[in-house]
Parts: sequence; C-alpha cells; structure tokens
Amino acid sequence: MTTDLPSTVPVESRELVSSIFEAVDGVAKKFPRTLFLERARAGGHARELWDALVEAGLLAVGIPESNGGAGGGLVATTAVMEALARVGTPPLLYSLTTFSRESIRRYGSAEQVAAHVVPTMTGERKFCFGVTEPDAGTNSFAIRTSARRDGDCYRISGQKVFISGADEADHILLLARVAPSGERLTRTSGFGLFVVDLSLPGVALRKLDIEWHAPENQYEVFFDDVEVPADALVGEHGRGFDYLLSSLNSERVVIAAWALGLGHYALQKAVDYAKVRAPFGKPIGANQAVQHPLALAAAEMEAARTMMYAAAAAFDAGVDAGAQANMAKLLGSRAALAAVDAAIQTHGGSAFVYETDVVNLWPMIRVLQIAPINNESVLSYLAERELGLPRS
Ligand SMILES: Cc1cc2nc3c(=O)[nH]c(=O)nc-3n(C[C@H](O)[C@H](O)[C@H](O)COP(=O)(O)OP(=O)(O)OC[C@H]3O[C@@H](n4cnc5c(N)ncnc54)[C@H](O)[C@@H]3O)c2cc1C
Repeated sequence: MTTDLPSTVPVESRELVSSIFEAVDGVAKKFPRTLFLERARAGGHARELWDALVEAGLLAVGIPESNGGAGGGLVATTAVMEALARVGTPPLLYSLTTFSRESIRRYGSAEQVAAHVVPTMTGERKFCFGVTEPDAGTNSFAIRTSARRDGDCYRISGQKVFISGADEADHILLLARVAPSGERLTRTSGFGLFVVDLSLPGVALRKLDIEWHAPENQYEVFFDDVEVPADALVGEHGRGFDYLLSSLNSERVVIAAWALGLGHYALQKAVDYAKVRAPFGKPIGANQAVQHPLALAAAEMEAARTMMYAAAAAFDAGVDAGAQANMAKLLGSRAALAAVDAAIQTHGGSAFVYETDVVNLWPMIRVLQIAPINNESVLSYLAERELGLPRS
C-alpha cells in the first residue's frame, strides 16, 4: 500500500506533512490503538492522547505563525487527522476543536482569537460543536435553540443532540437563532455562532448510549436561560449561518482524512491476515475473490486521498473549495467503508471477535456516511452546484 504523499500535497507543504506522519508515529507509541480501545470499552477518555499531541506540537499545526502556531493550514491539519486515523486513534475532539477554532480565527475578534484559539494549541481549551437538534437534524436551518439579546448579554435556551465530547470539552461552539420569535429566519440574518462556556449555570448534559468504539461520548446538551456575555458572539449578530457554511469545507476535508485513515488501517490488517490465514493450505490472499475487493478499496482510497489534499490545498489558497471538499468527503467515506467491509469479509468469523479489532471499525466508518453531513446531501450539493440541476 502506498504511503507516498499524493501529488496534490503542495510542494511547500511536503516536508511538514512528512514530519507530521513521523510525529504521529511517536504519539502512537505513547497512546496505541490497544489503549484507545481499552478506554472506549471502559467508557473512559483519552487524556494521554491529547497530552501527547500537545507535546509533539501537533495541536499548533494549522494555526498561522502570526497567531503563534506552526502554520501549514488545512493541508497540515488534514495530515494530522489522517496520520492519527491510520494508526487507529482518530480523536473526534481533534476534528471538533480544529473546526471550531478555525471559525473563530476567521470571523472572531483579535480578543476572541487570543482567548479561545491560542489556548487550544497547549490543550488548555477543547471545543465541542453544537448544531444538531432533535427536530432539525440535517436541516440546520430549522434549529430552535435561541439566543436573545438582553442588555450587554445574550440569554440562550434550547437543546442540542449528538454533541460529541461535551463532557471533555470546556466550551461549545453553538449555532443558535438570534432572530426574535416570530421574525422570519433568513440565512444571512437569523443566526449567531456563540462560544459558550459549558460550566455556566443553566447548562446540563445527558449522555447518549451510542455504539461507537472510541473514547468519546455523545450527549444531549440543554440550555436553560444561560447567560453569556455579548462577546460570546463570533463576528456579527445574524451572520452565524454564513460563517458556518463557509467553514464547513474544512470540516468535510478533515472528515475525509479521518475516514481514509481508518480505511487504511483496516486494509492493512486485512492484507496481513490474507497472507497468513490458510484454511485450504495456501493463504486466502491467493484467491482473486479475496484480492479484488482489497485492491479496489486501495485504488479508490488513493483516488479519494488525492482529491482530499487537492481540496485542502484549494481551501488554503483561498479559492472556493466547495466542490472538491464535498467530493473528498463523499469519495473518502465511501472508499473507506468499502475497505472496512472488505476487511471484515477477509477476516471471516474472527472479524467479530473484539480483540481482532475489525468489526469495531464498522460503527464509526458507517457514521461517517451520515455525520457531520449525510452523503445524500453532499450529492445534492454537487448536483446543484456542479451539474446545474434544480435545487432538491
Ligand atoms: C456519533 C455521532 C456524533 C455526532 N456528533 C455531532 C456533534 O458533535 N455535533 C453536532 O452538532 N452533531 C453531531 N452529530 C449529528 C449528525 O451531524 C447528524 O446525525 C447528521 O447531521 C444527520 O442528522 P440526523 O441524524 O437528524 O438525520 P436526519 O436529518 O433525520 O436524516 C436521516 C436520513 O435521511 C436522509 N436525508 C436527510 N436529509 C436529506 C436530504 N436533504 N436529501 C436526501 N436525504 C436526506 C439521510 O440518509 C439521513 O441519514 C453526531 C452524530 C453521531 C451519530
């Protein structure tokens, strides 16, 4: 399997990306996949993984040097996620924190960057991310959580669901409606993005029981008249949805990296197993029926990887990366799903033994077809924007 970097990793980033892969190898020695699974099974967290990322300087990757970071943009952030997923330890909090801080960095004030973005590099600040609501899943436009301006503060009430890592994060980047009740919501005037301290009075969590096999938990988060200062609002009052949309491309790319890294992990295990398992006296990997799904997954993942780094480079170059980012998420999640499925088939019955660590990958790779955006919506975006078909 190729570990070379695709040609779409820009020349000026190749050294940094290679050094990120090496640094993650060091992190994996301190926090291997076995410990990741052990914690997942015990319902614990992966605190040491976060500490190792800080120590290796990997949480500073993607933040510009002007903010005290290591630079590298989305290409480097993507590489961190891909490398961590390849060794089987993709931290969901990494994607949530990098995505949240990117929105604050782009649209927040200098004070907000200093207060919320800079401390993420030392691990002092972790973000979860709150968009989904019980009655407004894919349709974020229909959210009901509201933030009402009240003098020099906002008062937030409502409920979010499926909020990953809400117990580990100290803050949530929250999408809430700011239009007064009864006023028509519009994309450009109805919403606000807020940085909310999860320890404030009025915030309550309820854990969801989710099949996940990773050391993060998902929560319902309730906001009961939570008072936040006016400067919890990122950017302008009413522009939150626009900010969210323009940052989402970076999230799509990091999700592709997560999926492709896991797919690579699964494929490597399947290849290793196919070389030694020999119920008929010769390795099962000598059968074309076993080889072909694995080879196809390798080819499709490499193609998706090429698209993923192209999308990241386009995002960093400041051009509209919408189509490439959506294609990367779509192709990456699908190719990785096929790789995990082929790995399960290759392992036969042993795939279902927890210690074999193959079927454990299935819930996560399956969720990535749905969250943070379902692949149907990605296809609708591409049909409308790239093919010029009517909006569905
Ligand atoms: C493990 C996990 C972690 C998550 N973490 C977070 C988090 O940290 N923060 C957060 O805000 N959310 C999070 N989510 C929520 C996730 O983003 C949503 O599940 C996702 O956006 C889909 O919303 P829904 O589940 O309500 O599905 P629904 O909107 O009810 O959709 C159900 C299905 O209908 C189909 N569908 C929906 N809309 C369309 C359409 N327009 N066109 C065609 N088909 C469509 C799709 O197949 C979709 O899977 C998480 C979810 C999971 C499972």
